[in-house]
Amino acid sequence: MTISRDIVIVGGGPVGATLALALHENGIASTLLEARQRGTSHQDQRALALSFGTRLILERLGIWPQLSSKATAINTIHISQRGSFGRTLLKAEDHGQEALGYVLSYGALSQALDDALSGCHSVEVLHGAEATEILPDDDAATVTFNHEGIITTYRAPLLVLADGGRSLGDIPGLNRETREYGHDALVAKVQAELPHNHIAYERFTPSGPAALLPNGAHDFSLVWTGRREEVAAVMQLDDAAFLLALHQHFGDRVGRFLKVGKRLAFPLRLSRLNPVAARHLVVIGNAAQTMHPVAGQGFNVGLRDAWELADLIAESPVGQLGTETMLKTYADNRRTDTKNGLLFTDFLVNLFSNDVLGVSPLRALGLGALDLIKPAKHHLVRKMSFGPRG
Ligand SMILES: Cc1cc2nc3c(=O)[nH]c(=O)nc-3n(C[C@H](O)[C@H](O)[C@H](O)COP(=O)(O)OP(=O)(O)OC[C@H]3O[C@@H](n4cnc5c(N)ncnc54)[C@H](O)[C@@H]3O)c2cc1C
Repeated sequence: MTISRDIVIVGGGPVGATLALALHENGIASTLLEARQRGTSHQDQRALALSFGTRLILERLGIWPQLSSKATAINTIHISQRGSFGRTLLKAEDHGQEALGYVLSYGALSQALDDALSGCHSVEVLHGAEATEILPDDDAATVTFNHEGIITTYRAPLLVLADGGRSLGDIPGLNRETREYGHDALVAKVQAELPHNHIAYERFTPSGPAALLPNGAHDFSLVWTGRREEVAAVMQLDDAAFLLALHQHFGDRVGRFLKVGKRLAFPLRLSRLNPVAARHLVVIGNAAQTMHPVAGQGFNVGLRDAWELADLIAESPVGQLGTETMLKTYADNRRTDTKNGLLFTDFLVNLFSNDVLGVSPLRALGLGALDLIKPAKHHLVRKMSFGPRG
């Protein structure tokens, strides 16, 4: 059975759901297909690093009031490298911002988006609907999905893929470039001896960056990246040994570590689609680009994909939906933001993971110098907060 729709979004994660909501705000109807059952993601404790610009988007969508009490503000970012005194501090107050960013659980954001969508009559949301095939074509794109055992095909002038990049194989017309870092990230909640005081710590070590992000009244969210075998080894440790190893790795800035929650490790890769659009199909969010978690850029770039696509759809004349012209405009508009995010994170990883003799003192000098050059810091904070339009 093939049914016509105007806009179909595959994937109701934070990026797909944001797009549906932003379209609704513009008076535009859409259909959202989400493989998971409603509520499944609401308990996901994974910490997302939200930029200040992302908060403004969530405010405009009307869901920030529901989220603000669950989000932890980052007021200062402390950047250092192991084995050197060079460090730099970025402070929200120096840049006229209420905060530099926020830490929020994936589950809290998903729930707020799902709640908001449940009140939108213009959005048809199908939970438990798993797309199994996507085919771009000359005058429309089709998606075939299984919804509670019933196989259906929707055909639409615009199909948006926001599935996180994990579910579907190759799609004709799209090409994925992937580079494995050979590194894994370990994420967990930890408690330390000293309070976080809304400071996020980013520490560069020769084996990879590690971050402690304030999350809740007392906890930090840890992101510890390193060579695969190193991360595998610390994953094996019992809690007491892990906390000691973390203290050795991170230094003494927040005192000893007292408690660790469930640890999860995943491989790090740089991956992007080129192009991000084929006939009547556009790919956004993590499905379009995946970057190293250093500097917390990935989620925010994905959210800006959704926000800017909704804007473009709203501005496009009738009959332009999903046309080559419209999709080219989208791809052109998003190229710089995506490229900057990928280059910036890749640059940081390579610069700080390079242990060649002489490079480390230069980096220390760089961090020390950055701390003194106000315009450079201001530029960095604007770009991290708002992307290329900052
Ligand atoms: C293990 C892991 C840990 C991470 N940790 C962090 C972190 O600590 N901090 C941080 O800022 N970012 C982190 N990220 C990145 C962050 O999760 C992403 O930036 C963010 O989730 C991107 O949102 P998205 O909506 O594009 O994709 P996703 O969140 O992946 O959402 C995709 C949605 O599509 C649905 N879907 C998939 N396939 C189909 C299909 N065939 N049909 C219908 N629906 C489908 C999925 O069920 C899901 O709901 C992590 C990512 C991973 C994988």
